[in-house]
Amino acid sequence: MTTKTVAPLLPRCGFRRQVSLGVRPSKESLNPFHWSMLRSQRSANMANKFGIPQEVEARLRQKFKLCAYCRLPMQEHTGVKGSPRDKATIEHLNLDGPFYWAKGLKEEDLVLCCGSCNSSRGQKILIEWFASEYCKQKGITANTVADEVKQYLGR
Ligand SMILES: [Zn+2]
Repeated sequence: MTTKTVAPLLPRCGFRRQVSLGVRPSKESLNPFHWSMLRSQRSANMANKFGIPQEVEARLRQKFKLCAYCRLPMQEHTGVKGSPRDKATIEHLNLDGPFYWAKGLKEEDLVLCCGSCNSSRGQKILIEWFASEYCKQKGITANTVADEVKQYLGR
């Protein structure tokens, strides 16, 4: 019996087609494995995505061992794929930007928060987010967040 090369099965979702067309795939069009693959690629590039100088990032990591919002301990998870809930992520307090160091982003505009809070906040204004179910359940309010966040709110 000869071994024949079997044609690869067609992908069961739109991953390959969308990537080859250069379209940014949406979560709905992908199976969970491909989606997590794309997500981990994005977070792997995260470190200097915003052009933040290394010493500033190191200082932030020193300062924020706890999530700026929920105050739970965070881990760096260097080299870990995906976004664990307690992964320390860079958080822009001001959603109007600037988002890039070269465009005027400042250290006081940045905190570190856990992956869980980061994805829950998403694009919400802080005050609106504090009113969310997530913040209510975790007891996150304008009075419980890190001083850096309070200072931002008072600016
Ligand atoms: Zn958190």
